[in-house]
Amino acid sequence: MIENHLINSIYRATEGEGVFLGRPQIFVRYQGCAVGCINCDSKDTWTFDKDMNVSITEILERVYTEGRNGLIKNVSITGGDPLHPSHVPHVLELVKALKDRHYFVNIEAAGTRVVDEIFELVDYISFDFKTPSTGVKTPLKNIQKMNKDYEGRFQVKAVVADKTDFDAVLDAYKTLAVLEDTLEFPWVLTPCFNNEEKFPMQRFINVLSWNEENGGFFRVIGQQHKWIFGPDEKQV
Ligand code: SF4
Repeated sequence: MIENHLINSIYRATEGEGVFLGRPQIFVRYQGCAVGCINCDSKDTWTFDKDMNVSITEILERVYTEGRNGLIKNVSITGGDPLHPSHVPHVLELVKALKDRHYFVNIEAAGTRVVDEIFELVDYISFDFKTPSTGVKTPLKNIQKMNKDYEGRFQVKAVVADKTDFDAVLDAYKTLAVLEDTLEFPWVLTPCFNNEEKFPMQRFINVLSWNEENGGFFRVIGQQHKWIFGPDEKQV
């Protein structure tokens, strides 16, 4: 059990991906992740560095000041993996404190765990479906549980590097469509834009085309912050 919140960074930026694209918010980025996605663009958040511990009081002060002294009331809790078991008690404490202060709270979930005690308290869950290029797998039962228990409060996001990734997402969607009565949540495809890469225009065009050719079940939303600031820039 980690004694305190391990925090990589707290900063204000405009959301660059998913259904809240373009919305200013404060990011609270937890330090520590054991998921191990091959194409992770935040490998600096992997180590559980005990020197990066921060008190809840300091986090709340930073959220307030970064949010232009309380003017911006949207917070996204991300990582690292904020749902790693060692982070969960701290994230729970933070979510409760933010809700007491009337913040809208989104949590970024890696897709490997459904953590009801946190999901029941937050306003929105951005849940990853891990594609083959990540080297990690999201069990379909996790998406089924999200669909059953968190209707209207979550999106699924999938990074797409190539056709194999796209086909894996499509297979998952079609399998779930047979198993579930309704599949009405937004399912976002994020064409990947890797570190040190030039803007991958052809990859974007391909993903748009594959989606159109296969029924258009998904929303294709790129990572806007990488177009503006480049793929390697942090805290933007
Ligand atoms: S879950 Fe997120 S932080 Fe962890 S390895 Fe995957 S992309 Fe990186």
